[in-house]
Amino acid sequence: MLKFFKRDSGSTPPVSPSPRSGEGAGGRGNLRVGIPRVLNVWNTHQFWIGFLTALGIKPENIVFSSETSEEQGREFGKGRGTVDCCYPVKCMSGHYGELVFSKRKKVNIVLSPMIHDLPSFMQGHVQGTLSCPRVMAGPETIKSGFLKERDIFKENNIVYATPFVSLGEHPKVVTTQLFGALKDTFNLTHAETEKAVDSGFKTLRRFNERARAESRAILERAWRENKPVVMVLARPYHMDSGIGHEIEVELQSQGYAILWLQYFPIDEDIMDWLFGDEIASGYLKSPFDISNIWTSSYSSNTNEILWGANVAAHVPNITCVIRLSSYECGMDQPTYTPTQKTVEASGTLFFKFGDLDSTKPAGGIKIRIETIVHYLRKYSDEIIAKKAARLTRPAPQGWGERPLATHQTENPVPSRSAVTG
Ligand code: SF4
Repeated sequence: MLKFFKRDSGSTPPVSPSPRSGEGAGGRGNLRVGIPRVLNVWNTHQFWIGFLTALGIKPENIVFSSETSEEQGREFGKGRGTVDCCYPVKCMSGHYGELVFSKRKKVNIVLSPMIHDLPSFMQGHVQGTLSCPRVMAGPETIKSGFLKERDIFKENNIVYATPFVSLGEHPKVVTTQLFGALKDTFNLTHAETEKAVDSGFKTLRRFNERARAESRAILERAWRENKPVVMVLARPYHMDSGIGHEIEVELQSQGYAILWLQYFPIDEDIMDWLFGDEIASGYLKSPFDISNIWTSSYSSNTNEILWGANVAAHVPNITCVIRLSSYECGMDQPTYTPTQKTVEASGTLFFKFGDLDSTKPAGGIKIRIETIVHYLRKYSDEIIAKKAARLTRPAPQGWGERPLATHQTENPVPSRSAVTG
């Protein structure tokens, strides 16, 4: 079982810490580093764990703030808000405050990276893999709430480190950036930074591979048993229970397997099964080509969401897509129509939860979940059969023949407008 925000012993390569990282005075072995569990830390946390442990920081001394909650914002972020309309960015104040003021684990350093661009499986197939501009600037915006009257970091003997880093670039670029930004904070040499960056990328890659392997197993089981799966199209931080409000957890508790697009298996056999015909015909250049539905493909999380819509439209067992977004986000606005059209054109059910913010509309979510479950029960068999019939290439070896529907529903799949939230 994969553990987010923990050092994953099954996936982390052994690392020899730097000789400068000992337990002695000034050694890094005793440093405690706090990282706010926000924004693109959700999809890069394993990089930071690999990077810091390679520098000799003990895994137990890498402290991530809790998931977002109203209590966290009230207790630790109150009075430190900054002007930003983006809800996931606003929440950062509570995370910073928790790391600074919490007595539970006193940290020496708050590390809040300004992530300019991201490593993505879509690199080379899209125009770019940039972060949302608000994500990039978030640490600069939020820190001002902790500096406006006096330096709260200094007052608490905390070093605030906010390296600007292009994680989508070559490791040499990342090394230069992190060495430049963190050499004084961690007393680094260039050589050990290079080694730590390498360890960070390896740790992240292995974690992602393991997560995809688990998703593959879910998909294979669904295919064999002719069961429906629900795909979530959202940004990585919607996995945070205070941002995404655990909508997918509600569906899972109703017995439906959930796949997040970020960890969908990208093995060659699955990609050939799903996209082989379109590539052979020249309609797509590769399994990760989204130019048929999205032309300005420079934003990493946006690209992946659009790709996820393409995938959901093709996979027979994905009978329903849940689209999450926050606060009428401007980055997400133009993606609503292409994702919905792509998914629905395949006959797959599509439900959108937009405008998610601090309030968890528990009653409203419950009613929506009941509606979704109703449609899943009623139409999944038919959707699986129709989508499977469209695929001409064999399923991955060992998965077995196309399963027959357990029963045929009498009603046709409802019109789009009837099921779209
Ligand atoms: S994508 Fe939207 S919700 Fe997410 S950080 Fe950027 S502006 Fe905020």
